[in-house]
Amino acid sequence: MKIQIPRGTVDIMPGESEKWQYVEHVAQEIFKRARYSEIRTPIFEHTELFQKGVGDTTDIVTKEMYTFNDRKERSMTLRPEGTASVARAYVEHKLFGQVNQPAKLFYCGPMFRYERPQKGRQRQFVQIGAEAIGVQDPAVDAEMMALALSIYQELCLKEIKLVINSLGDKTSRLAHREALIAHFKPSIHEFCSDCQTRLEKNPLRILDCKVDHAHPLIATAPSIIDFLTDESLDYYTQVKRHLDVIEVPYVEDATMVRGLDYYNHTTFEIMSESKGFGAITTLCGGGRYNGLVEELGGPASPGVGFAMSIERLLAALAAEEITLPIANHLDVFVVGVGEAVSPITLKLTLAARKAGFTAERDYLSKKVKGQFKTADRENARFVVVVGEEELAEGLIVIKDMTTGTQEKIAMSDYIATLQKKQHEGETN
Ligand code: ATP
Ligand code: MG
Repeated sequence: MKIQIPRGTVDIMPGESEKWQYVEHVAQEIFKRARYSEIRTPIFEHTELFQKGVGDTTDIVTKEMYTFNDRKERSMTLRPEGTASVARAYVEHKLFGQVNQPAKLFYCGPMFRYERPQKGRQRQFVQIGAEAIGVQDPAVDAEMMALALSIYQELCLKEIKLVINSLGDKTSRLAHREALIAHFKPSIHEFCSDCQTRLEKNPLRILDCKVDHAHPLIATAPSIIDFLTDESLDYYTQVKRHLDVIEVPYVEDATMVRGLDYYNHTTFEIMSESKGFGAITTLCGGGRYNGLVEELGGPASPGVGFAMSIERLLAALAAEEITLPIANHLDVFVVGVGEAVSPITLKLTLAARKAGFTAERDYLSKKVKGQFKTADRENARFVVVVGEEELAEGLIVIKDMTTGTQEKIAMSDYIATLQKKQHEGETN
């Protein structure tokens, strides 16, 4: 029986994986410049971490988690997102005690959510994310948005927009909550059963419902902005002032509530506006989560962060028809004349690699003509020919495939000649 790949997962094959490496590398460089360090947390955690950290009224926790009991009957969950784990590690490793705050951390790795697979929505997907924990300062919020944007910009994406909102502080959210309950309660029977549960538990989630999103009461729902306390409004204004000064354009959307319970104050999304992009247009989501670390047993430590999936990033690149400049050139192909020279062709291949060239040889005992064909197909820059007779004199032939010229050299000059020729090629 042929066993197939699980639904909602993919094999990232050669030809495709280079794009992933490229994108990951670009992100790493950007994080490095912004002084963010990588954190690698486990793929699975105690289920409780996500119930507490993501929120047990969220879609993620109620419907999308891969949860299992281990052999000692402990409930474990494949991580559906990264922030809860990073906050746990922040507490676990007492990063709050470090002199330098905020702790600036980034991660990149697979996340798991049991969702209905479609374009841009998988059951295993890879998120790149960043968190700055320990400081509440509008400059950090603005930096976080600029940081997320810069990854897209570095990859030359143009048709993207930043959407921002504020969910305010506890007082703002409580007042807004009461207003939402009053707004929806008389007609709650017209909503899905999930929303009926959400009404008392977390009415904000109704605004985010994928079933009832077209219900007229959603559009007329009371806006969080009208309930922001003076302090929250001031913070929001400060964040926008920072964005204005650093010239990061944004649009405001007072209906944008994010899918995770722990957000307060700033929330943001980066969307693709490209026509070629599918129905799901959110590339990146983020926001401030001031209560999360405390919720996980640490001292009050305000945080802000974002997460984006590489799947949607690559889809956005495809929609804007951007090809990544991925180098996949072959510098040296070593051709052997006769089987007796096989150990020598291997030796020369390895020597070239050791000197930093990409190098390959034939493994199928092909005739010389066939080996040259392979070298041609692989677009080799140089072909090195090893024949028994020349070898007896300590000589090999180097052919420059761009000019067609070839030259007989001493085997001892092999690497030096390659380096010289390549250098000439670069300066020509
Ligand atoms: P959506 O509304 O699309 O379900 P979300 O609010 O669940 O998104 P977040 O939890 O904020 O998304 O995750 C941040 C980012 O991770 C998203 O903007 C998206 O780029 C990506 N993402 C989330 N779920 C998936 C998935 N199932 N497959 C691929 N990428 C995903
Ligand atoms: Mg989701």
